[in-house]
Amino acid sequence: MTDLARCVAEAYDIALPHRGEGKVADYIPALAGVDPQHFGFALALPDGTVHTAGDADISFSIQSVSKVFTLALALRRVGSALWDSVGREPSGSAFNSIVQLESEAGIPRNPLINAGAIATTDRLIDGRSGDATIAEILDFIRARACDHAVDVDLNVAASESETGARNRSLTHFMDAFGTLRHPVETVLGVYFRQCAIAMSCRQLARAGLFLAMEGRDPLGGEQLIDAHRARRINAIMMLCGHYDNSGEFAFRVGLPGKSGVGGGILCIAPGHGSIAVWSPGLNDAGTSLVGAIALEHFAYAAGWSVFD
Ligand code: GLU
Repeated sequence: MTDLARCVAEAYDIALPHRGEGKVADYIPALAGVDPQHFGFALALPDGTVHTAGDADISFSIQSVSKVFTLALALRRVGSALWDSVGREPSGSAFNSIVQLESEAGIPRNPLINAGAIATTDRLIDGRSGDATIAEILDFIRARACDHAVDVDLNVAASESETGARNRSLTHFMDAFGTLRHPVETVLGVYFRQCAIAMSCRQLARAGLFLAMEGRDPLGGEQLIDAHRARRINAIMMLCGHYDNSGEFAFRVGLPGKSGVGGGILCIAPGHGSIAVWSPGLNDAGTSLVGAIALEHFAYAAGWSVFD
């Protein structure tokens, strides 16, 4: 049997010398000061075991990793009608790109680029207030993480809102096409706060387990979303989870994953477990450089690539 604790330790050790490489996201001022030397790794298994290395218990801004949870919740709430608002094709372009929106009638390519996540959040709101929606997102993540301390970092949310001209442009542009059902600022108020949720690798790895276990939370036993929806979320993560770096990530790691510009990556190993890594130095596409190295080695050592 594979010694998973050893695989975690080895992956961490192999990636460690690369700590500090890459560039910390500074377009959100509140993220610019994060120490690039941080590096955490957590593997959560369906029996409740969590193997960790490094800074696995330090909270960081999960940023776009949150898009996976809002996608799951939106699918649960509005079902296949979600696909009226957003597509499911890789974009091959940057996380905040606007170009495809014009030629594709304001329908974003997929739910994991910014425009698509904003459209998904709009559907999740479903006539409620922004506060009620963020409360649902938080309740869901806290329950999955088995930790009610998980919260929004309001300082990061405010910083992102103040400097959010690009996301505002995307949202107004979609609004002009009639893609959205709620006022622009209501949608953005939820989007900025979901991106500003702060979690540790341990909490995040636990929170992702339901996606590895066909939509069922193995810790609480609850079927959270239909099995076929969990499989499809994994498919979207594999094809779109790293923007224009998704092909490279699939090539190297071979697992569905979602990056965040805070330096976190959530990776799902279907049937096996859920992995969260965090190191703030990013590559050009906004994926944690050290995190991707660690995941590549871990997936190889564990034999968990979906292509194995
Ligand atoms: N909150 C970030 C933004 O909207 C998310 C980008 C990311 O994490 O990839 O710009």
